[in-house]
Amino acid sequence: TVERLRPFASTIFAEMTALAVTHDAVNLGQGFPDTDGPRAMLDVARQAIADGVNQYPPGPGMPELRRAIAADRAGRYGLEHDPDGEVLVTVGATEAISAAILGLVEPGDEVLLTEPYYDSYAASVALAGATRRTVPLTRAGSGFVLDVDALRAAVTDRTRMLVVNTPHNPTGTVYDDDALRSLAELACERDLLVLSDEVYEHLVFDGRQHRPIASLPGMAERTVTVSSAAKMFNVTGWKIGWALGPRELIDGVRTAKQFMSFVAGAPFQPAVAYALTHEQAWVAAQRDDLQRRRDLLSAALTDAGFGVLDSAGTYFVCADVTPVGVTDGVAFCRTLPERIGVAAVPVSAFVDDPRQWNHLVRFAFCKRDDVLLEGVRRLRSLR
Ligand code: PMP
Ligand code: GLN
Repeated sequence: TVERLRPFASTIFAEMTALAVTHDAVNLGQGFPDTDGPRAMLDVARQAIADGVNQYPPGPGMPELRRAIAADRAGRYGLEHDPDGEVLVTVGATEAISAAILGLVEPGDEVLLTEPYYDSYAASVALAGATRRTVPLTRAGSGFVLDVDALRAAVTDRTRMLVVNTPHNPTGTVYDDDALRSLAELACERDLLVLSDEVYEHLVFDGRQHRPIASLPGMAERTVTVSSAAKMFNVTGWKIGWALGPRELIDGVRTAKQFMSFVAGAPFQPAVAYALTHEQAWVAAQRDDLQRRRDLLSAALTDAGFGVLDSAGTYFVCADVTPVGVTDGVAFCRTLPERIGVAAVPVSAFVDDPRQWNHLVRFAFCKRDDVLLEGVRRLRSLR
C-alpha cells in the first residue's frame, strides 16, 4: 500500500460488520436498511435485466435517469440542471465524492472538512494528494452546531474546497438556515468550491425541510451536490449515485469518474429513474417510519442508561457511553459484538483527534422494529 493510503487500511463499517457476522450480533453499526425498497422499482430492475439492458450504458448515465434526477431536483428545490452536462450518474455517492475531489482539487491543495466526517472524504483527499484540514462541530445542548468562525480561521490561500454534509453522518445534525448562510458567505468570500453531500436529503425529521446549499446566493456556480439512490430507496447495494452542478465542475468530476468505473450498473438505472418519478410517496412514508424508529431506539437507549443526543435526520443517533461506565468508545465497540451480541460504531472513527469524541458511539435505527428491540434488550444487560 502506498504511503498516503496507509492510514485507511480498513473501513470501520467493514470491521464492525465483520465482527457482527462472526458473533451473530444485531448490527446497529453499518448504516444499511434491512427491508427492501418499493416493489415496483425492484420489478423495473428485474424487467430491465430480462429485456437485455445488460451492456455498458452511456458514460454520464442513461438519459432517462439524468432527466429524472434533474426533474426531481427542480421540482423539489427549484434548482435547474441540464441533464446533458450538469448531471452525472456515478457508482454510489462514494464515487461521486472521490471523483469530485480527484477531478477538482490539485495535489497540495487543502480541503476543509468538519469533524466528525464521513470516512471516504479523508481517504479521497489523500488519494488526490491533497491535504485535509478539519474543524470540529461544537456541542450545544444535546446536539451539535457548526463553528463558522473556526472554519473561517482554518481557510488558507491553499484551500480549494469545503465539504458540507447535511443531514450529517454520524451525528444526525441538520444545519439550520443561519449555518448554511454562514457557510455560503465563507465560500464566496474565500472563493472556495463546495462539495455538498446530501445523501440523507429526504431523511429529515420533525417537519424540518432539507435546504440545499446550492440554493443560496452565489452558490450554484461553485457547488457540486452529491446524492444517491441508496438511502432514498433502500438500495445501498445497487450503487447508483449522482453529482449535480455547473457544467465546468461536472466536467472535472466526469473526467475522473470515467477512469474510475467508466459507467454505473445498467439495469439499475431505469429502476432508479422510475422510482424518482413514481415513488415519492414511498420515500415520505419511509421518512416518517424512520422518525418513529429513531424515537424507539433513542428512548430505549436512554432507558438502558446511555446519554442519547438529538438526531434530526439520517439513519443515526449518537450516544454518550460514559453513563454506562465506559470511557473508550473504540474498545467498547470492538468488544460489544462478542460480549452482548450488538454492533455499533465509535464516533472517533470519523475524526482526526479522538480525544473529544471517544465517549460517543453511533447507533443505526434503519432496522426493523424486532431487530431494534432485540438490540436494545441486549444493550440493557450492560446496566
Ligand atoms: N455520504 C454519506 C454521508 C454516507 O453516509 C454514505 C453512506 N451511505 C455515502 C456518502 C455513500 O453513499 P453510497 O452508498 O451511495 O456510495
Ligand atoms: N454510509 C453507511 C454508514 O455510515 C455505510 C457505508 C459503508 O459501509 N461504507 O454506516
